[in-house]
Amino acid sequence: MPKTVRIALNRPLRRLFDYTVPEGLALTRGQRVQIPFGRQQLTGLVVEIDSPPPEGIPLKPVTGALESWPALPPETVDLLTWASTYYQHPLGECLFTALPPALRKGRSTEVARERFWIPARSDEPLPANAHRQRALLEWVSEQPAPVSERAIRDAGFTLAQIKALADKGRISHAVPATESTTEASPVAPPRLTPAQQQAAEQLQQGRTGFDACLLYGITGSGKTELYLHYLKHQLQPTDQALVLVPEINLTPQTVARFRHYFGDRVVVWHSALNDGDRLATWLKIRNGEPVVLIGTRSAVLLPFAKLKTIIVDEEHDTSYKQGEGFRYSGRDLAVYRAHLNECPVILGSATPSLESYNNALQGKYRLVKLEQRAKEASPPTLKLLDIRSRPLEGGLSRPALQAIRETLERGEQALVFVNRRGFAPIMMCFDCGHIVECPRCDTRLTYHRRDRAMRCHHCDYQTAATSHCPKCQSDAFKPVGQGTERTEDVLSQSLPNIPIVRVDRDSTQRKGSIQAILERVNSGAPCVLVGTQMLAKGHDFPKVTLVVVVNADGGLFSVDFRAPEQLIQTLLQVSGRAGRAERPGTVLIQTCHSDHPLLKSLCNDHYLRIADRLLGEREANRFPPFRHMAIFRAEADTMEASLGLLDSIKPLAQHPGIETWGPLPAMIARRADRHRAQLILLSENRGRLNATLSGVCQALDQRKLPARLRWMIDVDPQETG
Ligand code: ADP
Ligand code: ZN
Ligand code: ZN
Repeated sequence: MPKTVRIALNRPLRRLFDYTVPEGLALTRGQRVQIPFGRQQLTGLVVEIDSPPPEGIPLKPVTGALESWPALPPETVDLLTWASTYYQHPLGECLFTALPPALRKGRSTEVARERFWIPARSDEPLPANAHRQRALLEWVSEQPAPVSERAIRDAGFTLAQIKALADKGRISHAVPATESTTEASPVAPPRLTPAQQQAAEQLQQGRTGFDACLLYGITGSGKTELYLHYLKHQLQPTDQALVLVPEINLTPQTVARFRHYFGDRVVVWHSALNDGDRLATWLKIRNGEPVVLIGTRSAVLLPFAKLKTIIVDEEHDTSYKQGEGFRYSGRDLAVYRAHLNECPVILGSATPSLESYNNALQGKYRLVKLEQRAKEASPPTLKLLDIRSRPLEGGLSRPALQAIRETLERGEQALVFVNRRGFAPIMMCFDCGHIVECPRCDTRLTYHRRDRAMRCHHCDYQTAATSHCPKCQSDAFKPVGQGTERTEDVLSQSLPNIPIVRVDRDSTQRKGSIQAILERVNSGAPCVLVGTQMLAKGHDFPKVTLVVVVNADGGLFSVDFRAPEQLIQTLLQVSGRAGRAERPGTVLIQTCHSDHPLLKSLCNDHYLRIADRLLGEREANRFPPFRHMAIFRAEADTMEASLGLLDSIKPLAQHPGIETWGPLPAMIARRADRHRAQLILLSENRGRLNATLSGVCQALDQRKLPARLRWMIDVDPQETG
């Protein structure tokens, strides 16, 4: 029996706490315990057993264990311990992210069993105005089998209505219908195309144990089918698999396809799950049930007990990087986790990140290519449309509008990509030149005409839109530039009888709205989709044969070294929505820089050629992946305070082999009234960079900083502004 333990708490503290273990209590690493902490009782996780306790300090005993088994198995603790060091984030907070919210707060792992209901033989009258109860009773009576509370809620009823009916004896509990087994329905999967077959063989020829593959599969090449085929082949009936996707709500089709193969073995994990579902899913994973888990970023941290295969779909997607708190990369942790588990990992994309592609070129990953589309159509043809001296309407040039018309006349669908939601990015006075800015940020307010508001897209500020200039009262106060709403309006006017479907964060806020939109589009009637980045992600729109990019120039001259890569990825992903079924697709890219080499190569070369060139530029400038990068960021009520803090740590970071840049104000120097600055560190040597970061963090932890001065660290940052 251990005599002392070291405990991690869910606090931003870079230290652990020592306790004694009461007689008779058996504790292991990863177990949840209750401990006295000051006057409170807190939930902690056991991290070390019998490590020498600090001398001369009397230790308190652990109050008790929350369960007799470790909530986090050894492999999960190892993964998060490594991540804590790599990302320089306090271990306690890292470990607690692997627990569902209910368990973080110290609740029990007992999940109330879900109840099932059937109509009861009773004729207790319902109150005359109880319309919903009556509707619920009717609905329950129509169902062929007992219905779960979840199904009842999904059908739009509430727990209060269930309880009201139960209290009146109109419905009663039932034993659940025999739960469907984990075997999938016996539907024959499509035969793999010869190109898929070849890729499948290459994927399966992996080394035993750890094996990382970069699957470069052009858009529409059928990567999902390939993943399914691979998993079918790879997974034993008792194995667990993890499939990471960027945003699950955007791709209900993917989940449906997995269910088709793996039935109830498929479970999902994303931020919209409620606490009860999260706990239930977490327990399945922890208990080693043979799940195929489809999840977003944080799914990589779950306590799998029998993880045998990992797939990261759209591995280039920037949403794999957590932007605040524990700033980990879900993709990179997936690779490390495969390494810990000695299992294969597949990173798939039509536009691999330069980091992963470079790893493939270095021989760290095997490169598997899938360069033909699964269906008949060949990849879309991309054309640049120079709009320098063309009149535009809602951002659209005449040739673009004409192409949209012709597409609709052929009974097909078109997609228009605009990179900003709202009506227009700026409201400007044409008399005095005033542009409305956010009072709390160094940014301009976006005009949203649907609800006549001006909003900041960087904080939550909004104000009512005015028809006159707030500065000089002139009525020459107008929206400038394009947003999705404006393009939608212009298209509605030019194409009066055609449905225009807008897809952006504003139009998809309601639960289920994206599904409704996708169903409507895939019903096949002619329509025009207008939307942001959201449209670029993984969707399969068989009837879309034309894609128009309203303006490609945004990323061409950015100071962020990742901007060219991200521009090309977005343009190719959105282009990939065209011509996915039988008919070939066309992509029109409007630009004021049709002779820009990057845009020209987009039309002429395939992605890996462009990636080679971009990697060449990164190497010449010694940017990642040719050096490792980390950023210290500071935020305070004044810029002096932020810069001052970073200036004071700069000498601590100046070691041989480490280059420092800054400190400088961030690209958006003021956001929500906080002044932001950053200090960038670069090094060829990961170990040295990490040791330096750790030294600076320790020094900062010793200091007492003013209350509103904050600092954070971002290792392998996605945004350098
Ligand atoms: P990707 O994710 O690579 O862009 P998808 O997996 O969405 O491509 O596949 C593109 C389309 O091709 C989908 O409609 C899919 O159902 C279809 N498809 C994939 N593989 C096959 C196959 N072997 N036979 C017939 N259709 C296929
Ligand atoms: Zn004015
Ligand atoms: Zn703002």
